[in-house]
Amino acid sequence: MHYLSTRNSEINESFLNILFQGLSKEGGLFLPSEWPSVSVKNLYDKSYNEVALEIIYPFIKDNISKNDLQLIINKTYQNFDNKNIAPLVEIEKNKFILELFYGPTFAFKDYALQLLGNLFSHLLEKSNRKITILGATSGDTGSAAIEAFKGKNNIEVFILHPHKKISEVQRRQMTTVLDKNVNNIALKGTFDNCQKIVKDLFVDSINQSQNSLVAVNSINFARLIFQTVYYFWAYIQSKQQKVSFVVPSGNFGNIFSARIAKFMGLPIEKLHIVTNSNDILHRTIKDGKMKINEVQQTYSPSMDIQISSNFERQLFESSKRNSQKIIEIMNSFFKKNEENLSDDILNDLQSIYTSHAVSNSETLKTINHYKKEYDYLSDPHTATGLFVLNKISNENPTISLACAHPAKFSDAIFKATNEKPFIPERLKKIFDQKEKMTILDNDFEKVKLHIKNKL
Ligand SMILES: *Cc1c(COP(=O)(O)O)cnc(C)c1O
Repeated sequence: MHYLSTRNSEINESFLNILFQGLSKEGGLFLPSEWPSVSVKNLYDKSYNEVALEIIYPFIKDNISKNDLQLIINKTYQNFDNKNIAPLVEIEKNKFILELFYGPTFAFKDYALQLLGNLFSHLLEKSNRKITILGATSGDTGSAAIEAFKGKNNIEVFILHPHKKISEVQRRQMTTVLDKNVNNIALKGTFDNCQKIVKDLFVDSINQSQNSLVAVNSINFARLIFQTVYYFWAYIQSKQQKVSFVVPSGNFGNIFSARIAKFMGLPIEKLHIVTNSNDILHRTIKDGKMKINEVQQTYSPSMDIQISSNFERQLFESSKRNSQKIIEIMNSFFKKNEENLSDDILNDLQSIYTSHAVSNSETLKTINHYKKEYDYLSDPHTATGLFVLNKISNENPTISLACAHPAKFSDAIFKATNEKPFIPERLKKIFDQKEKMTILDNDFEKVKLHIKNKL
């Protein structure tokens, strides 16, 4: 297996190379040359860690031994706060919730980033190399990355978040980590602005051939396959023949991980994309018109995104891996802020995905409804998915993803239920700790200089 780029299907890169890069030279995203298939029935008796090994190993087998990989996986999930790692809850016949908030920062990002942190350490130990981690966060990636890389040798971490546009818990989870190798930048702009600057920094560093910048956003392909594991795990636990998934979406990373599971042979019926009022994905799937609107602030900040990076990976697959076509689509999209997809691409998208946009008030109502009806308290991101789960018939088994712990978003929970959620001890302590961050203008050169001076 080798890796190619959505904007150049001719290149031939190793897993190790794409792991330590952000984007390809052409600005594209990396994908494997083919999708390995996995026999689901051989997974039934396995633990989460063993399933993870079977799913991940085919992608990275040229660069690591199976034994080492299993040790790294075991080390990663031993600290998770549930013996099932990602437990499946059946709330009603054929309706399930997959809980993904048992990692150190209480959101699903931990499942991939904790593993990425340990994998990086393992590989760097051998190579004597230094790397700089660079990422933009709409809330949860940043803390998960900081938690995964804090205090690690030979790794410097820079995380950009949109100033005043994430929840207090999300901010404090990042800014109260005082390790010297952790640098928080609060950018006076939106998440899309943060992501743009990060992408431009990657292109800039490629141009200057200082390839020590490493991406930990879901543009990093490794994160996607690490997330693919829990879709297999959910399926096994559900004991169903075929399932659909409901995935609250922002950057299209988590749901593309589900798409990968389907490529690898998991019997998935439908993938439901759920957005909040930042509904570009919904509009695109509905009628093929990709059009950027202003970003709106909602109760689900990790989904307040208009430009979903990973959608390019899906477009590449839907265009039958035609990188020339992707270059045309993306160039035109970024020039005009809109693009109409061709019928063949749209038909392919609609054959797999269904989409939904959920408003702020529907989100709060859903939190309240699930609390009353099922005594189930969900965070606002999870609630956008539960709104959809509640609407669809229970004839087809459907699994909705619980993306974060409600305690991370206590203001929204209070608005919805008139009660504050229970806050776990581990989360409470950040409220009286000192914070460290630098506030910067939304200006590429200023951010670049700031980072340069620190290195
Ligand atoms: C990151 C995140 C999302 C969106 O996931 P994508 O992979 O960006 O689509 C949704 N909910 C929560 C809680 C998140 O942290």
